[in-house]
Parts: sequence; structure tokens; C-alpha cells
Amino acid sequence: MEVDYLIIGQGLAGTLLSRSLLNAGKKVIVVDETNNASASRVAGGIVNPVTGKRLVRSWMIEELLPFALTMYRELEQELTMSLVQECSILDFYATDGEREIFNNKLEEEKDFLHLSADGDKWQQYFRFNYGIGEIAPCLLVDLRSLIIGWRNHLSEIGSLMEHQFSWLDCEVTATGISYKDIHAQKIICCEGVGGAQNPYFQMLPWSKDKGEALIASIPGLSRTHIVKQGISIVPWQDGLFWIGAAHDWKFTDMEPTPAFRKKVELQLDYWLKLPYTIVDHIVAQRPANMERKPFVGLHPVHDSIGIFNGMGGKGVSMCPWFANEFAAHLVNGIPLTPTADVRRFERILKR
Ligand SMILES: Cc1cc2nc3c(=O)[nH]c(=O)nc-3n(C[C@H](O)[C@H](O)[C@H](O)COP(=O)(O)OP(=O)(O)OC[C@H]3O[C@@H](n4cnc5c(N)ncnc54)[C@H](O)[C@@H]3O)c2cc1C
Repeated sequence: MEVDYLIIGQGLAGTLLSRSLLNAGKKVIVVDETNNASASRVAGGIVNPVTGKRLVRSWMIEELLPFALTMYRELEQELTMSLVQECSILDFYATDGEREIFNNKLEEEKDFLHLSADGDKWQQYFRFNYGIGEIAPCLLVDLRSLIIGWRNHLSEIGSLMEHQFSWLDCEVTATGISYKDIHAQKIICCEGVGGAQNPYFQMLPWSKDKGEALIASIPGLSRTHIVKQGISIVPWQDGLFWIGAAHDWKFTDMEPTPAFRKKVELQLDYWLKLPYTIVDHIVAQRPANMERKPFVGLHPVHDSIGIFNGMGGKGVSMCPWFANEFAAHLVNGIPLTPTADVRRFERILKR
């Protein structure tokens, strides 16, 4: 079978890139092994424009956020399902110092930071003494539904192969690649953390980042906002809440960590006034890298091999923009954003 692109991996990156290429009229096959613990299926699905204790504005967020909203809305229409919610994050200050940091940033980040006038409403759900800041606009995307919905669509149009891809079955030539009975002009690797083992891209500056979240039932808690105080409580599927997330850069296994669960439970016991039940503890590795910028583009030596990866903890905002940009690059030769272009690592990739 002749196709234009063979894509390895159907997490968020492979999902959105395959969609952009199909929309450009290209013939695409996606190979994905079923993995319920991929980063995309474990993620909270949040686009937060101003992150961390110091409330730092995320890279390119002015462009990424509205673009992402448009793309997720289009996908809602195409897949006839609800996927994205425009919302706010309510930041419950844990100390006077946190309130001061927020207030000091208000002027500089006035597009995203606001004082919340809603304090009274939240007294019925939480114990807090220092007030609430509001971060908006934010997005909340139902990634699991999106991945499964797109997978069904790929299957319906005959564009999905469900198994583990192996380079042993793949021949790379000057004119393209052959994999089993498929000949493709290019292969694009969207393997998430699997990218660190890819023989063509393992030299990139990958880093490790284990993430965990608890899934909880909290009857009676409002579902209108994401709320946070160190940890975030996020409306999730089936009337449940996602609570996370941990970052662990020195982990030795991918098992759920009892210490993380204990820490979250201790905080909930103090902060949350409502009873809760933990129903699941989910874990995945983020496809992180030292630069915190994505890896997008074609290999500097092997022109028929590309990568769309390295989204770290910000795939929900970065994947839509860069899927569109990469597809435009592949199809029409439009240049990539230099800070995202994988050819910035030309020297190490040529070794
Ligand atoms: C706990 C946690 C919370 C997070 N929260 C957020 C958040 O709120 N907002 C945000 O923006 N980001 C968040 N992230 C990060 C986000 O999940 C990632 O940026 C994004 O999902 C990465 O998508 P991906 O497609 O690159 O990788 P993945 O989702 O890992 O997908 C890779 C896919 O490739 C497949 N694959 C790999 N190798 C092969 C092979 N050889 N053959 C076949 N298939 C293969 C895998 O099975 C998988 O389906 C979070 C991550 C974690 C772990």
C-alpha cells in the first residue's frame, strides 16, 4: 500500500498531526499499540497560561491558547462530542507570601491574572484563610475522549494499525520507508516517552519526568472551575475529579507511589470540607526534555524520518499549533519555528 505518511504513536501528538495531514488531503496510516497509561490518557488536560510558584507566563501562550481552543472546537464538531471547556483556575493562596506574589504579578500579567470575587461561594467547599486569585482564560480538554474518538475515526477510514511498531520491520531508503506491506514517503515519530529509545532521535536531550494523579469521587463539589493549592482538583470523566500532579525526576519504577497518595490525602483532609473517596491512582511519564521546547521536523540526515515529540507537561497547548505548523511544513514547505525545529540539534543528530 502506498501512503504519504506513516505516523508512529497516537497520543495527543499523533492524533493532531494525523488530523492536520488528513485535512491537507494526504494519505496517512497511524501505528499505535494500545496503552492506557500513555501521558495523554493520564494528563489532566489543562492549558494554564501562567504556571509555577512564580506565576511565569508560558512560552508562546498568546498564540497557542486561542489556536488550541479553535482546533479542539473543530474536533468537537468532527467527532460530535464535547471535548473542551473554557474555564478559570482558582488559586487558593496557602500563605500570605503566595498572595503577595500573586498581587505583585497582577499588573504585569493582567491578561491572565485577576482577583476572584467569589470567595464566599468557595467557603462551603474549602478551608482557606488568605484569599483566592483567578487565572483565566484557561482550557480544560477531555483528552481520553479525544484520543478514543480519533482512534475510532482512524479505524473507520482504514488509517489505523493497532500493534507495536518495530524498526526491525522498517527499511529506510532515499525515497521513503517500507514497513511491512506499506510504502510511505515519510515516517513521523510521535512516540511520546518511547522517543528516547528511537534509534534516529535517542541523542536528543530527553529528560525523565514521572507524573501521578489520583482519581476521586467528591459528591457535591462544584464542577465549574479547576481549583488549586499546590495540587489541582480538576473535573474529570464520569462525574469524578482528577487530582494532581506530581513531578518526579529521579524515579526508578513506574509504580504508583504511596507517598504521593499520602501527601495528597493529608492535604485534602485539611483543605477540602467535603468527604471524598479515591477510586484510582494513575501514573505516566511525560515526554520531557531539558530545553522544554518541542522536537518538530525532519531528521537532518534522514529526510524521510521526522519527529513530533518533546511536549513535556504542556502538550495540550503546544500540540495543536505545532501539528498545524509541521503539516504546513511537510505539505507546503512553510518554515518551522526555529526554537521548535529539531534541526537545532543538527550537530548531535549527525553523529
Ligand atoms: C500526570 C500527568 C499530568 C499531565 N497534565 C497535563 C496537563 O494538564 N496539561 C498538559 O498540557 N499536559 C499535561 N501532561 C503532559 C501531556 O500528557 C503530554 O504533553 C502529551 O500528552 C504528550 O503526548 P504525546 O502524544 O507526545 O505522547 P503520549 O501520550 O505518550 O503518546 C505516545 C503514543 O505512542 C505510542 N507508541 C510509542 N511507541 C510506540 C511503538 N513503538 N509502536 C506503537 N505505538 C507506540 C504509545 O503507546 C502512545 O499511545 C501531563 C502528563 C502527566 C503524566
